[in-house]
Amino acid sequence: MNLDSIYTEIITEYSQSKHNERTIDSPTKSLKGHNPSCGDEINLEIKIKDNIIEDAAFTGVGCAISRASTSIMIDLIKGKRIKDALNLVDTFIGMIKREITNDEDLEILEDAMALKNISNLPARVKCAVLAWHTLKQALE
Ligand SMILES: [Zn+2]
Repeated sequence: MNLDSIYTEIITEYSQSKHNERTIDSPTKSLKGHNPSCGDEINLEIKIKDNIIEDAAFTGVGCAISRASTSIMIDLIKGKRIKDALNLVDTFIGMIKREITNDEDLEILEDAMALKNISNLPARVKCAVLAWHTLKQALE
């Protein structure tokens, strides 16, 4: 099994898992993200306490890539400090834009590294970055 098929498997698993698709009681931040080129629409909810992302979840409709990317991001940022979460967002967007290519620098992204090859599919890039841009807006 090559790396590409492992990555495809991670994306499929996340897009089918609904564990982050829910709403949060009285979220600190709630923000909509929209990708008109594909029709992806997410509503991201975050609960912040003492500068730490205590909980995060999303609802909405979207393609497999956008849902997988959102869910992977939520797993990654939960329990992180806001500034570390923002660093993860910048690293992810840097990976998709191919500005950060060193695997060692990308390791902090964990499962989100599975989306690296999306940069080869320009039409799907917006699907992959939607949740991350939305998170950045919510945190800034
Ligand atoms: Zn999409």
